[in-house]
Amino acid sequence: MCVRWSEFAARISAVAFASFSLRRAPERTYDGGVVVVMSAESPQMKGAMLAEFLRWYSAHHDDTPVRVLIESDPEARSLGLDGSRAPFGLVTSEWYPATLFHRILDAGLGRFSSSERHRLMQNAADAVAVTMLRGLYSVLFALVATPDRYSRHIQRAWSQLHDTGTREVLIVRPGEAESIIRAWPAHHPYLCQMVHETTRAVFSHMRVGAVTVERERCIDDGSPECVARVRWTKP
Ligand SMILES: [Zn+2]
Repeated sequence: MCVRWSEFAARISAVAFASFSLRRAPERTYDGGVVVVMSAESPQMKGAMLAEFLRWYSAHHDDTPVRVLIESDPEARSLGLDGSRAPFGLVTSEWYPATLFHRILDAGLGRFSSSERHRLMQNAADAVAVTMLRGLYSVLFALVATPDRYSRHIQRAWSQLHDTGTREVLIVRPGEAESIIRAWPAHHPYLCQMVHETTRAVFSHMRVGAVTVERERCIDDGSPECVARVRWTKP
């Protein structure tokens, strides 16, 4: 059960499908023989962070800007991505430079207004969560997914998918939690929003009533940490 929970929790964190080795991000050799040493200065994320989102995105929106980006981005091509169809060659268990994900998200989401993007993120998080929680995962989820258990396991789940950042979900009172991300050099406003909406979508499957998430602080606003407040109506 312990091993399976670890795997499941990681999937919850990403709202994506992935395989979960415990190895850290490897060094990579790029075209031209330039070796990039992985560290906090070049943060990495697992392909699972984006793969399922991109499948949903391509099914619901014009993904031409993402395809164009991938086909013209030397780093994307050197890492085996291709623009043919979602998830564009991303391997869920592979590590990728966070900056590559930033460029993909900028290409895919930059054309939307703030409110459109927010709604898109909400819809994507909800849809991918439903997909993920079918079948076997619905059984596991019923056993382990409560706000308290989520709070206890979130860092382990996060670390399966990010090589930087610390993650906390603190239950501050019944029906309310602070969702916090610190020390995250891979921060990007769309990724930050995705994490918060994912947390909301996962909580909404915990049979805790209506769930809302409200962003309070963000690194992009000069805060040292990103904080959102999650509230649910049936603690
Ligand atoms: Zn943020």
